[in-house]
Amino acid sequence: MTQAANILIVEDDAHIRRLLRATVQRAGHRVAEAADARAALSLLDIEKPDVVLLDLGLPDRDGLELIGPIRARSTATLIVVSARDDSGEKVAALDLGADDYLTKPFDTEELLARIRTALRHQRAATGGERPSVIETGPIRIDLDHRRVARDGADVHLTPKEYAVLAQLARRPDRVISHTQLLKDVWGPAHEDRVEYLRIAVRGLRQKLEDDPARPRLIVNELAVGYRLSLRDEG
Ligand code: CA
Repeated sequence: MTQAANILIVEDDAHIRRLLRATVQRAGHRVAEAADARAALSLLDIEKPDVVLLDLGLPDRDGLELIGPIRARSTATLIVVSARDDSGEKVAALDLGADDYLTKPFDTEELLARIRTALRHQRAATGGERPSVIETGPIRIDLDHRRVARDGADVHLTPKEYAVLAQLARRPDRVISHTQLLKDVWGPAHEDRVEYLRIAVRGLRQKLEDDPARPRLIVNELAVGYRLSLRDEG
């Protein structure tokens, strides 16, 4: 089942642009293309994309500088696709409002999976209900009642563990940076205390993961942040 969406590809490298276009069209989506920042911003209003694939190395402007303007003018899911494998830039992109990040060379199936995830969350959001109960495998997270269960049995979490899990669960399948989680849960004064976060995540994994050493629910994005992964769950 393919849900056709409008995808805006912002990429100055013609070869990569062709690859992106072919991949996205193969999945049945409509494509618009921009080779620089200026074209991207003008196409944004015309094409009303559901998803923007954004390269950071653009000829006229740094792609990072485009994230704010795109966010201000569009509700599109913004996926950065960049060759810069620099965790500082990933964090900057996410904190500026990007939803996701793929490093080139990317796997085309992975790209399509990220787009499917984006569209699924958009459908849920426009359906009005922001899901307050998230179920994945044996885990059930009830955000309204602040309850977490595993195989039907309540799991006792510390307040910080719960707060971290709730932040991740409000934006499932998206990377949330360490800085953002620390700010949201511990407050802006503690945004550098990554060790607080590590301790909370370790606790969560011990309570929620089948194999805490090989987590599948709370996934690391190395040096960037964490993602609550609902993928691979039908
Ligand atoms: Ca480029």
